[in-house]
Amino acid sequence: MRLEVANEYIEAKAGQIAYVDLGSSASGSTYEVQARADNAVYNDISVFICSERDLQMLLAGRSNQCRGTNKEKGLVQFSVKTQHDGRHYLVINNSYSMMVEKKVNANVTLVAHMPEEIRSKFEQNLLQANAGIQRTFVVDDFDFRIEPCGMKNAFSKSATGDITMCSELMFDLLKKKMPGAIEGVMYHELGHTLLNLWGLPGWDNEETADEFALVMLYWAGAQEKAIDWIRYYAEHDSKAEAVHALKNGDRHPLSIQRIRNAQRILENPREVITRWNKLLYPHMTKEGLQGLLNTSPVYVDGALMDRYLKSAPAAKNQAVLASPPSQRSPQQSLWGPVN
Ligand SMILES: [Zn+2]
Repeated sequence: MRLEVANEYIEAKAGQIAYVDLGSSASGSTYEVQARADNAVYNDISVFICSERDLQMLLAGRSNQCRGTNKEKGLVQFSVKTQHDGRHYLVINNSYSMMVEKKVNANVTLVAHMPEEIRSKFEQNLLQANAGIQRTFVVDDFDFRIEPCGMKNAFSKSATGDITMCSELMFDLLKKKMPGAIEGVMYHELGHTLLNLWGLPGWDNEETADEFALVMLYWAGAQEKAIDWIRYYAEHDSKAEAVHALKNGDRHPLSIQRIRNAQRILENPREVITRWNKLLYPHMTKEGLQGLLNTSPVYVDGALMDRYLKSAPAAKNQAVLASPPSQRSPQQSLWGPVN
């Protein structure tokens, strides 16, 4: 996976060493560094990647294994392969300068294997989500996977409905402390997939998928997660998106439009949810409908629920059994326990 771990403006005062925490990485990972001093003159900089221990040695003025470039001018580019597990730092060493403060723009990308514990946790969550979906909706099996894609994105494949969550995106959202956005993105892709596999119109419409995602968050009683999702969209530059969309014919609405749409729904969720209830109940299992009654009774359409509860098919067991026994939760729909 490739992960941007720093994109910062750093000021290193004259005679000082400035550093930025890059988080942890495993031995054998690579940090790719690009840095440039903004200074009009004296634009030479000394930039290093240091392990925690080497940083301490450097700060103490002792010999160390920090690696990078010394007093280089213009755009500085290098990569460093790590020798140790653990925390690493981007270091701007301006200790040699008597007078000049260095103003540095730096970008660091970590190229690494995904840590096994995180990968397996992600995978467990996806397995559970997948089992929950199969338990909740009447839908053909599709694949739900997390893998590196070389970009921060997620996809629903139109031919099969298979969903890919790019590990780069999930890491980025975790790093930015927007875990709720992961669910927003996941439900968005699920919206494409379900409508597609059910043969319904609107399956490839981005606003429809966003709307579905918000309804799912309400159904799960987790609408506060929409805030992360909106924050994530708010980070995007809508002007750049507009230019890209005009050039490349991208059909995704601009982030600013998606934010407005989401806010409109959050202000008056009932109307939108009522419409989706009519569309979704007929495609739900008995367990899914009952789960919904438990987690989000406020938004349940009572008369409609009664009607479909009587005729809804029981969930298939295969999908749930397909997950390892330790993760089996046959009592659970997408939204938690069924009583
Ligand atoms: Zn989409």
